[in-house]
Amino acid sequence: MKNKITELFQIKYPLIQAGMIWCSGWELASAVSNAGGLGIIGSGSMYPEILDEHIRKCKEATQKPFAVNLPMLYPNIEDHIQTIIKHQVPIVFTSAGNPKTYTARLKEAGITVVHVVSSAKFALKAQEAGVDAVVAEGFEAGGHNGRDETTTMCLIPLVKSVVSIPLIAAGGIGTGRGMLAAMTLGADAVQIGSRFIASPESSAHQNFKNEVLKAQEGDTMLTLKELTPVRLMKNPFFEKVTEAYERCATDEELQELLGRGRAKRGMFEGDLVEGELEVGQISGLIKEMKPAAEIVSEIINEFKVALNERSDAKYAFE
Ligand code: NDP
Ligand code: NDP
Repeated sequence: MKNKITELFQIKYPLIQAGMIWCSGWELASAVSNAGGLGIIGSGSMYPEILDEHIRKCKEATQKPFAVNLPMLYPNIEDHIQTIIKHQVPIVFTSAGNPKTYTARLKEAGITVVHVVSSAKFALKAQEAGVDAVVAEGFEAGGHNGRDETTTMCLIPLVKSVVSIPLIAAGGIGTGRGMLAAMTLGADAVQIGSRFIASPESSAHQNFKNEVLKAQEGDTMLTLKELTPVRLMKNPFFEKVTEAYERCATDEELQELLGRGRAKRGMFEGDLVEGELEVGQISGLIKEMKPAAEIVSEIINEFKVALNERSDAKYAFE
């Protein structure tokens, strides 16, 4: 498969594994890259020396291109940027911040820069800032999310109508059929997160992986919009947040309830009661744990089958 994104990243398939805090370290990223997709290390959960270690291990585990996701909310961002440049990481996905801040500097270092957005307005800003591609992430996605609740189905054509740079669709995609749908809407590639949590290579805790496998339709919800909107599984911690809303808690009370390190507690340490479990709506479709390479080949094979079915369907109208 060759298109704008496979050419830009020098990869085999236009399939990208999302950078996910606590869930995507070097093991998952290198496995996806070795399988022909683009693996991403989620640096938001890593102290500077941990990111250094993960990039080194990733380079040892794969000869293929890989990327680092850099959430711009991260407190020690300058350290991360220096580590990324020092190791000559080929691609960086920035998110949750202004793409103007670091794009020029990363590009001067020879790095391909992609920015994650949740609206057409910010996609245009990212293009103006000089990024090489954008990820448009819809409401279905797990973790941090846009405020406007624009679904992937609406977001992709909206973004496509305003930008000319390559477009990667994210949110609610976990299968080859979903990949084809997103590409039919105008995307050049897809970014998939939740599906890869249920793999042995993901650094998520086994308890969280099991919850992803058990998840049913309706088991996640977007919440905490007053702080940073986030899609979470409806576990006891989520219920506490709901109760806080019912008693009309102030933003300060919500912040106090959230506290610090909830995501680590839930996703990395496996505390299913008090931790935050960030996963997308597509978790309702994930029923089996599989090695990352199998996930990639299954998605690509299903994409091809679905594409053939569409070609067949064409004749029905003739
Ligand atoms: P790794 O190379 O996977 O980890 C190296 C270092 O990175 C460790 O310090 C580890 O933290 C940290 N780390 C791993 N994944 C992430 C991530 N996604 N975000 C932030 N930091 C991360 O090898 P290890 O042998 O150290 O660990 C193997 C695996 O065992 C881990 O990836 C994890 O899945 C699991 N593990 C879970 C623990 C927990 O639940 N608290 C503790 C230890 C391991 P750390 O020093 O906390 O391990
Ligand atoms: P909190 O403020 O609740 O906690 C900070 C967590 O990040 C702790 O678990 C801490 O680990 C870890 N951490 C890693 N590096 C640092 C550092 N340099 N300084 C302080 N803490 C660090 O934040 P969250 O857990 O909700 O989110 C963590 C980070 O992940 C955010 O800063 C944000 O950048 C990013 N994020 C990005 C998302 C995205 O882009 N989609 C989604 C969600 C979060 P420890 O407990 O071991 O101290």
